Amino acid sequence: MSPTPDASLKPESQDLQLLAIEPWSPAPGTGTPTHFRLKFSLKKGGTAVTEECKLGYRDTRFMCPCAYCVDEHTGKRTLTLEKVPLEIKATGVSRVGRYAVSIAWSDGHKTGIYSYETLYQLCQTAN
Ligand SMILES: [Zn+2]
Repeated sequence: MSPTPDASLKPESQDLQLLAIEPWSPAPGTGTPTHFRLKFSLKKGGTAVTEECKLGYRDTRFMCPCAYCVDEHTGKRTLTLEKVPLEIKATGVSRVGRYAVSIAWSDGHKTGIYSYETLYQLCQTAN
């Protein structure tokens, strides 16, 4: 039997919504935020569910999908983790249409547009 992807587990983009994205600190009240807390709504097997996840700023910055960070032709990541400052912070998040957010970073980088799909996939690998 050949392995077939389980379609019911993969959200269709039109069903995947990002309900919230906000700064989150692992030490509430004391620390400055180091993560995003994200809340998604999606359909699994025809049922609407809500899922929450946390993504570290540095991991999220490293996974930036823009043309400066990923080679457009080969799809290979040109950004290396060493180039991402340890203390990187998100300085702004803005919605792009109904499918993505644009994130500005404390290193001055702000060309990354993260689709809900991309963020959801990051959550799957991070958690
Ligand atoms: Zn980038």
